[in-house]
Amino acid sequence: SRETMTSSFLLMTFAICELIIAVGPSELLRLGAIDVDGHFTFHPSDLASVSSDFGMLKSPENPLAVFQPSSTEDVARLVRTSYGSATAFPVSARGHGHSINGQAAVGRNGVVVEMNHREAGTPEPLVRLKEMYVDVWGGELWVDVLKKTLEHGLAPKSWTDYLYLSVGGTLSNAGISGQAFHHGPQISNVLELDVVTGKGEVMKCSEEENTRLFHGVLGGLGQFGIITRARISLEPAPQRVRWIRVLYSSFKVFTEDQEYLISMHGQSKFDYVEGFVIVDEGLVNNWRSSFFSPRNPVKISSVSSNGSVLYCLEITKNYHDSESETIDQEIEILMKKLNFIPTSVFTTDLQYIDFLDRVHKAELKLRSKNLWGVPHPWLNLFVPKSRISDFDKGVFKGILGNKTSGPILIYPMNKDKWDDRSSAVTPDEEIFYLVALLRSALSDGEETQKLEYLKDQNRKILEFCEQAKINVKQYLPHHATQEEWVEHFGDKWDRFRSMKTEFDPRHILATGQRIFRNPS
Ligand code: FAD
Repeated sequence: SRETMTSSFLLMTFAICELIIAVGPSELLRLGAIDVDGHFTFHPSDLASVSSDFGMLKSPENPLAVFQPSSTEDVARLVRTSYGSATAFPVSARGHGHSINGQAAVGRNGVVVEMNHREAGTPEPLVRLKEMYVDVWGGELWVDVLKKTLEHGLAPKSWTDYLYLSVGGTLSNAGISGQAFHHGPQISNVLELDVVTGKGEVMKCSEEENTRLFHGVLGGLGQFGIITRARISLEPAPQRVRWIRVLYSSFKVFTEDQEYLISMHGQSKFDYVEGFVIVDEGLVNNWRSSFFSPRNPVKISSVSSNGSVLYCLEITKNYHDSESETIDQEIEILMKKLNFIPTSVFTTDLQYIDFLDRVHKAELKLRSKNLWGVPHPWLNLFVPKSRISDFDKGVFKGILGNKTSGPILIYPMNKDKWDDRSSAVTPDEEIFYLVALLRSALSDGEETQKLEYLKDQNRKILEFCEQAKINVKQYLPHHATQEEWVEHFGDKWDRFRSMKTEFDPRHILATGQRIFRNPS
């Protein structure tokens, strides 16, 4: 109608004035000329809000503009503008900014595409009951995907421990948690994608169509395209979860039990297998420690002699209310095969959604103590099974000393659940472990809690692995030089590089990963 046209015109005029004030004429000509339904913002607070990430390890640098798209075509128009310009500018999708090392940043000449800006009117998740999948916008947070699918009694199969991450962000890495041993990572549970390539083309891809791009984008660190839609496979959602933690003092027995658990298939098995390392009284400081509640305290001294390292196995069994009569017996049978310290069983029972959303509760607690928005020098490694005990001796019982500053997760996965055609990189062994050192730095804490100390420890851990020839691969990788990236990708590098030439020849996308030189 004429009224809508007038108000759109006024809005556009405002936006253009805002633009002129903020960026000056040359950029204005380029960005202001793009015909989109979404919204460009140049407001300093919007620019600042996307300039840093969860890691808080780099000095924030404001981008040229933030773009809040409302559709795939909007994203394509922005990328096409850069691709068609004499000097291309970087364009990075930002999911929820939960990277550690500036992977979603663009620098001051680039545009950040704020994928999770719901107000822009991006499509809602669409559940297909019969086909058991959901179509979701690439910037959707997993927590919202879960809520939507649960309305239909369904849920995705493979998760991350924390749900306030975007679909496009985790699919650009892998997306792992305790279900990965059985269902594979999240990238193994995707049926189809819509992708905007670095040339600004919109490509639908799947196992049947544009297959190379499909597999390349999964785990592709945002290098070949921006995922605007993902079709995710679903299963009937369980109603409840029995969540169990047990302790071990022997690393060998602990890992034998973990490996036994991930070898089980069929109905009679646990649904989730993770674990963590306890090297100090860190359980108390641990942001996942609420499980060991004051009502149910862990007497470390009763299970560990001379303060040595302990290992905690974490397992769950999903069930429906109708199975509540038999679940105890089923779990008892499964537990009989395990060799944990008998007095160390901690059990909780909760709704499925509360289990999946467990880390958010810890987040809220930490936020209330101002301990969430602190630097996070996280290090995530995939360690081959054949060397995990050397890693234990050198790192958990060596380099870490007796202070950790955050949880250390450890759990095994089966490589046969990972599609080797994806861009994700794992060690060359049938079973490998995730070791996640999820530490927080405190500027006014003890020496061992300071950022430099923790970063130095990370360096020592990587050096130790190199010297001991433990062929670890970084998960959520961060490398300084292209040589290191070549080494990281190993025999996947040639394909990775040739796909970059094909799908993002001007190196416009996800420059914050620092794999290829900047746009030309
Ligand atoms: P961002 O940080 O915004 O982006 C990450 C990269 O992906 C950037 O290069 C960006 O340009 C690119 N990207 C973002 N969206 C798209 C898109 N739509 N298309 C193409 N490229 C895109 N990971 C796990 O696997 N398992 C876990 O259990 C887990 N737990 C976590 C817990 C916390 C508290 C945090 C902070 C992180 C955790 N992660 C975990 C890591 C998480 O998977 C990564 O941070 C991942 O990058 C997703 O975060 P994001 O959506 O905020 O992506």
